[in-house]
Amino acid sequence: MPAQDNLNPHANAHLQGPLFQNALTTINEAAKLINCDPNILERLQQPRRCVTVSVPVRMDDGSVKCFTGYRVQYNSTLGPYKGGIRYHQNVDLAEVVGLAALMTFKNSVLGIPLGGAKGGICVDPTKLSRTEKQNLTRRYTSEIAPFVGPTKDIPAPDVGTDPQTMAWFMDTYSQEQGGYAQPGVVTGKPVEIGGSLGRNHATGLGVIYTCERAMELKGKSMQGAKIVIQGFGNVGSFAAKFAAERGSRIIAVSDVSGGYFNGDGLNVPEMMAYVKENKSLKGYTKAQPISNAELLELECDALLPCALEGQIDVHNAEKIKAKMIVEGANGPVSAAATKILDKRGVYIVPDVIANGGGVIVSYFEWVQDIMSFFWDEHDVDAKLKGVILKAFDNVHKFKEEKNVDMRSAALAVSIQRLEKAMLLRGLYPR
Ligand code: GLU
Repeated sequence: MPAQDNLNPHANAHLQGPLFQNALTTINEAAKLINCDPNILERLQQPRRCVTVSVPVRMDDGSVKCFTGYRVQYNSTLGPYKGGIRYHQNVDLAEVVGLAALMTFKNSVLGIPLGGAKGGICVDPTKLSRTEKQNLTRRYTSEIAPFVGPTKDIPAPDVGTDPQTMAWFMDTYSQEQGGYAQPGVVTGKPVEIGGSLGRNHATGLGVIYTCERAMELKGKSMQGAKIVIQGFGNVGSFAAKFAAERGSRIIAVSDVSGGYFNGDGLNVPEMMAYVKENKSLKGYTKAQPISNAELLELECDALLPCALEGQIDVHNAEKIKAKMIVEGANGPVSAAATKILDKRGVYIVPDVIANGGGVIVSYFEWVQDIMSFFWDEHDVDAKLKGVILKAFDNVHKFKEEKNVDMRSAALAVSIQRLEKAMLLRGLYPR
């Protein structure tokens, strides 16, 4: 075969983003640990399908504005595609590709029968009225409708979207399918229309289940532990709540309005109530203000980055004083920073396990929708604990056997499962 060295270098511009490039670095290293078949590795390095759509929206002033939306389907070897939808001003195709890849490896390492996908719209949702957000969601749903469905691809909430967004998504999809209710097309719905009990707090609870397990391994307990949390959205606020309930001292949290510090421990329920009322922590006075950089560099037992990707890289990795990092967000610590922190003895629970609670309970929600039979909250929380800790223990065992960091171990276990399944299914047409 002649070498394929005359290819247009821009053809793969969407694979050049930092989040995806970071993921590729870890994927390639992890693949070596398990001697992954090179043909499988080749296939795992690209998304299967990227859909870009224009989303025209009637704004409240009568004008029409077009936003750009995406749905990236990365891999469906293990089951229907699964992954959230992000509304944020920094969304682009390259970011969604990175997030879709993470979903693929997350679902695989967690042992759930789903592939990986992600969606998003480049929009600042805080600047939209409720009507505009609804119009945006309904038109986006309609544009990607040919590619989603309860047996094809099942979206869910992510940064900037919530149960109400999922309700509009489900309603629009159902109306376009002849008006018959199709609850299984999205997860993270309100419970009244087929959502699962325990889904809303699932990601935060999973973060704390894995943090607790990592503490146990270090001979420590959540009781009295000093915790710092970046982000106070769905993931960060529930992680703070569940940690505080276990007797931890939450010494700092942050959100878009800035960082909030109290060495004696913040009053988490009060702060959650404040956000419900005021949309953010802006104006909360019962804490000392601190910057994002200061928050990340605080001395603590566990740092929980629960906001966005790219927070800890080579520039600040040396300054991190946390004893442990539990990644509530997707991609908050770069591959290079992971190496630096690992060398310094900082234990990292990687995103694909730490924030897996969300998609695990999404999987439960999808199963409940298919059965039309719903479980109680205690059942959901207990099943979540079983699935997430099984994955954690499995990965920790691999880490100990191979003497590698947890991120490489998680990716290796994940790739191993995908490799077996891909070899069994083979290449179509061949
Ligand atoms: N957006 C969440 C994640 O990044 C949840 C995805 C889902 O529930 O499908 O894992």
